[in-house]
Formats: sequence, C-alpha cells, structure tokens
Amino acid sequence: MTETLAHYKAPVVAGYPDVPLAEKQRLFDEIRGDIRFADYLYGCYECGICVAACPSARFYDFSPRRIAQAAAREDVELVYQQMQEDIWECSQCFSCLRCPRGNNPGGIITIMREVAVNNGMASAREALAGYSRIIYKIMSTGTQVSPDMLQPDAFPDWGPETGDVSTHLDLWRRALPSETLHTTSTGWAVDDKTLVELYLIWFHTGALDVIKDVDRGLHAILQEVMEERLEEEGIQI
Ligand code: SF4
Ligand code: SF4
Repeated sequence: MTETLAHYKAPVVAGYPDVPLAEKQRLFDEIRGDIRFADYLYGCYECGICVAACPSARFYDFSPRRIAQAAAREDVELVYQQMQEDIWECSQCFSCLRCPRGNNPGGIITIMREVAVNNGMASAREALAGYSRIIYKIMSTGTQVSPDMLQPDAFPDWGPETGDVSTHLDLWRRALPSETLHTTSTGWAVDDKTLVELYLIWFHTGALDVIKDVDRGLHAILQEVMEERLEEEGIQI
C-alpha cells in the first residue's frame, strides 16, 4: 500500500473519502500505466453497444460506456469517483467486448479494481469484505467454494434442495464418479505437491501481499497456514 493514501486523513465527500487531485492523478496514472491499458481502450464512439450487452447495466446505475469515456477523456475526478462504487458493480462477464471500437470496458475495470486493491482503498476493502471466507477456502485448500459451505441459511434463494444435499453431503459426494471429488471440505482433493506449488506461487507473485492491503486478519491466518505447510516440506521462504 502506498504511504500517501494510507496515512491521508480524507474528508468525506458524497459518501466516500475524498483525496487531493494529485492523488487522483496518481491513481489514474497507475491505471493508464498498466501494460494492458493500451490494448483495452482505443477511444469511444458513444454508441452504447456495450451498455446494451452489459447485464450489470440492467440492474444498477452503471454503464461500461461511462467507464470507457472517463478513461478516454482522462477525467481523473470521474475515474476516482467510479473507483468508489461503479467498478464493483461489474460482473466481469466481458459481454462488452462486442464494442465496435475494440475497447474492453470490463478489462479497464479489472485494472481499476487492481489499482484500488493495491492502494488499499476503502471501497476495495468494503467490496471484498464478504469474500474473506471464500478467499480463505481457495487459498488455504487450493480449490474453491467447498460443498460444506453450501448450507441453506447461507443460500436461502437456492430452495429446499440445498438443505437435503447438505444433510446427506457425504453420500452425495461419494456418489460422484471421480475419486478426487469424494471430499466435503474441499471442492476436490488436491495433492500436497500441487498445494505447495500454489503456496510458493502466491508468496512469490505477491498475491498474498495484495490480501494484506485489504484484510490484515485474513492475511495473517493465510500466512500462518501456508508457512506451516511449507515448513513441513522443509521449504524456507
Ligand atoms: S464485463 Fe462488466 S462492464 Fe462488461 S459487460 Fe460484463 S458486467 Fe458489463
Ligand atoms: S461499445 Fe465501445 S465505442 Fe460504443 S459506447 Fe461502448 S466503449 Fe464506446
């Protein structure tokens, strides 16, 4: 996390912490400096095709066209404003790749999210707060959301079947054809060698450090889990 943002006591404007223009410019420069940026933005016809294709635009006050235009116009104020809320409303489906200009608004949003996370922005912490259980599961087990997380109280909209499946979870899982799927606390069985390789990748690529910027508690737990496993394997990091 940059010291500049981390220690700045920001006034709250329009429901989010404001920062000086120089900070907004720095964040935009970070977005524009990403190696993918030039390939994601070629200008904008304002045709609205991306909006018509975008599922999130149907349900939120959100528009991929506004994202592309703000970036194309280098409107640092608006880009900063979009980093508070808009970018977290995108489902990253990339239907906006239909853009006749060759833009990738969803890709620009990916970069904006990464910059928000890397700078420890409050909007990133808030948007990711609900995902800590899932991040923990993925990074500690090397798989994904596990069957034992699918409880009826967590997913009331999935209907009564969820309750039946969770009650007889062992049986359901044993009925699956592949041996690697006969687990309930992980999505599938991951062998130790793969898990160790994943831990090393997350350490060395800085993926673990990124989590530190948004959730220090989760980072501490994950670091402990990973270091313990690597130590068992005789690996020093
Ligand atoms: S990637 Fe985001 S902006 Fe693009 S169509 Fe999907 S939800 Fe909309
Ligand atoms: S489809 Fe492309 S050119 Fe059209 S409004 Fe969206 S970003 Fe701009």
